[in-house]
Amino acid sequence: MKHTDIKCILSSADMVGTSVVVCGWVRTFRDSAQICFLELSDGTSFKKLQVVIDKNALIPDPECTKLGASVAVKGKVVKAFKGEGNELEAAEITLLGKCPPEYPIQKKRTTLDFLRGIPHLRLRTNTFAAVFRVRSVAAQAIHRYFHEHGYYYINAPLITASDCEGAGEMFRVTTQPWNARYESEEEYFKNDFFGVKAGLSVSGQLEGEVAATALGRIYTFGPSFRAENSNTTRHLAEFWHVEPEVAFAELPDVIEIAEDLLKYLIRTVLEECPDELAFFDSFVEKGLIEKLTHVANSDFAVCTYTEAVAILEKQNADFRFPVHWGSDLQSEHEKYLTEVVFKRPVFVTDYPKEIKSFYMKQNPDGKTVAATDLLVPGIGEIIGGSEREADYGKLTAAMRERHMDMDAYKQYLDLRLFGSVPHGGFGLGFERFVMYCTGIENIRDVTLFPRSVKNIM
Ligand code: ATP
Ligand code: MN
Repeated sequence: MKHTDIKCILSSADMVGTSVVVCGWVRTFRDSAQICFLELSDGTSFKKLQVVIDKNALIPDPECTKLGASVAVKGKVVKAFKGEGNELEAAEITLLGKCPPEYPIQKKRTTLDFLRGIPHLRLRTNTFAAVFRVRSVAAQAIHRYFHEHGYYYINAPLITASDCEGAGEMFRVTTQPWNARYESEEEYFKNDFFGVKAGLSVSGQLEGEVAATALGRIYTFGPSFRAENSNTTRHLAEFWHVEPEVAFAELPDVIEIAEDLLKYLIRTVLEECPDELAFFDSFVEKGLIEKLTHVANSDFAVCTYTEAVAILEKQNADFRFPVHWGSDLQSEHEKYLTEVVFKRPVFVTDYPKEIKSFYMKQNPDGKTVAATDLLVPGIGEIIGGSEREADYGKLTAAMRERHMDMDAYKQYLDLRLFGSVPHGGFGLGFERFVMYCTGIENIRDVTLFPRSVKNIM
């Protein structure tokens, strides 16, 4: 259908006086004696187009005025009678699809909770349409950032036989019937589709290292799967994962890249989604724009795990899980550090090796690894990264300590045998970033069809 996007009509002075066709959904209808008004949305912008109908010239079909109905309007663009921008004087209104009163998106019943029950319709609300416009802008910005900085875009496999660090959290991929019976586990998997145990990838990092040790700088941006049994507002079973991996890079380089990327993404969203952010600032998180502007223009904090624990221990009485050196940081600790202590994003570095993955570079102290998590206010961990252990002997020693199957990692170890280089990278949870940018507090509300424990609508 030939038609003009509402976004193009709203603010362009050139459009005034032209005749256009606009297609969209009715968001509000107001009636008076001589004139009535339709507010239309076509998804192209946060702002809606006001359609003015002079009842002396045109009596609209009542179906065209129902909330949620889809219509095409032919008319003339004029300067808005009130306020800025343009509106449309209707000459002809055609019904595309009617919308009966059972339409669940009604003015009054629009709590996020209620809308979660109708994922196929919730994008027609201001909030969700705005979230998904921001999400799209952020995704494009990720590709642009890496492309402009000389990274190659790699697609890591989603089905994998390496059960890596995420052993317990891996979804299995199988074509075996539910009642398949075999004498042993080995026989069961031998008869399965791949002939070995296979699952959905929890991370593209291992493949990312393969690519980075040939191409220099690479990134992946795709789904990762975790059978997390934790029903939190920050975890999904299927999430999108941004994973740059860089050769000839050490931990400080990894931190620099992560900070630069995040600031670039935030600046882009501020620039390209001003209406959406103004809306979130008013209705979702007061002060959001100021927060993001400040973050984009100031340095992130950096502190070691050891320093962080020293700070947290003073506060142990207030925590559900008291901290001591060696314990994993819980969400409450992460939030305390970034929200109360540093009041801005903070990289925590050099964690005890026991609580981090086998592949992280071992520090000379023999106790910690060159890892970093970036913590942000409101969310906690948004990025996890590290320099990777590039030394064959040290890596195999760490694997032996963890009783890992060396044969399964032959390819990974080969990278350390043949021209090994210092390298590192990180994983950014894309949904967590969108939460941070929009102020939305539940990860299920920044995902089209969220998947979590017992939930696959
Ligand atoms: P967390 O401690 O929050 O469970 P993690 O340490 O298990 O996260 P990593 O393996 O470091 O996560 O993954 C890198 C990033 O991917 C995290 O910093 C986070 O932003 C994101 N992420 C991890 N798991 C999930 C999930 N289940 N749902 C959404 N995002 C996730
Ligand atoms: Mn992590």
